[in-house]
Amino acid sequence: MAVEACNKALTQTWGNPSSLHAKGLEAEIVLNNSRHTIADALGCSENELIFTSCATESSNTALKSVAEKYGKRKKKIIVSSVEHPSVANVMKYLSEKGYDIEYIHPQSDGKFHADDFISAVDENTCLVSCMLVNNENGYILPVAEIFKAVKRLHPDVICHCDAVQGFMKIPFTVKSLNCDLLSISAHKIYAPKGIGALYIKKGIIIHPLLLGGGQERKLRSGTECVPLISAFAASAEYLKPNISKNLENYKNLKKYLIENLSEIDGISFNSNEDCAPYIVNFSIKDIRSEIMLHFLEKKNIFVSSGSACSKGAVSGVLEEFGASAGEADSALRISFSIYNKKEDIDALVSGVKDGIASLRRS
Ligand code: PLP
Repeated sequence: MAVEACNKALTQTWGNPSSLHAKGLEAEIVLNNSRHTIADALGCSENELIFTSCATESSNTALKSVAEKYGKRKKKIIVSSVEHPSVANVMKYLSEKGYDIEYIHPQSDGKFHADDFISAVDENTCLVSCMLVNNENGYILPVAEIFKAVKRLHPDVICHCDAVQGFMKIPFTVKSLNCDLLSISAHKIYAPKGIGALYIKKGIIIHPLLLGGGQERKLRSGTECVPLISAFAASAEYLKPNISKNLENYKNLKKYLIENLSEIDGISFNSNEDCAPYIVNFSIKDIRSEIMLHFLEKKNIFVSSGSACSKGAVSGVLEEFGASAGEADSALRISFSIYNKKEDIDALVSGVKDGIASLRRS
């Protein structure tokens, strides 16, 4: 669906959506329809959605804007300690600019507790940012509960959510999460890389990162990439009616994978029942992630070590959830797609068994 939509926009509706001629109008219609589809999937109005080049850009725009606009006198920002680098590194940047960043950690039970976020918010707080689903182990954070209480107690505090790993995979809307700003990305839903979106609740003021021709309601200048945007919308449209059915499939695959891996000596799990069923993170004692990853790729099995975004660098996120340094160093992340079947799990488990036998020997 994404490929067809993209191709159609490349070969037929290839105009610039800002052009006044017929070709431009044609492209503008595709852009508007795509915005309608994604807005509908998020439960917001089309005027509350801008397209960006990726979720990193969405979160950078959101977080820097809030700090600049709402954080002049209120310098405190509350954020989870397990955010993706697209949020975590903005926090480092804002800290260097003089903002006071308070990180909320999981408790000793390995869970995030909404109360820890809520009690950290005070009259000096301008922003709370919390991701929906962690990208490394699939942990689902209690975003709706946190934001609801924050808004009730401190209506002026802005709430941002990185929902990249949850969009079109677990059911939510911007209203059910009570958020003001929300970042999503197309490549987590089978559409191309290089396209994202930012939900901006009506009334929230954003300072654009890019200044230029004034596209996207002056909030994100640069000619919209209609082929990628229409692919993003086509994927969302395809996935939306099947979220519950897909979740059931993922649950069955996760159960089957965990049952099979549990029979192997030296495997420990970094994902538990609080995690989304489409991500399973586990560690293999004494075998570094990268070594097993390259062993498996020779069998055409492609898994990630820790986070795909951090290219081998240990992010510290698994340790936050209680993993030892050795477990983090040997962690593999399995992400299921709608195309995976039990046979794929069988191949993975047998690949891991072969890998352990061969790599431990050497
Ligand atoms: N947030 C999370 C949770 C992610 O998993 C990713 C990418 O994997 C991103 C943000 C960044 O998305 P993008 O590559 O579109 O900038």
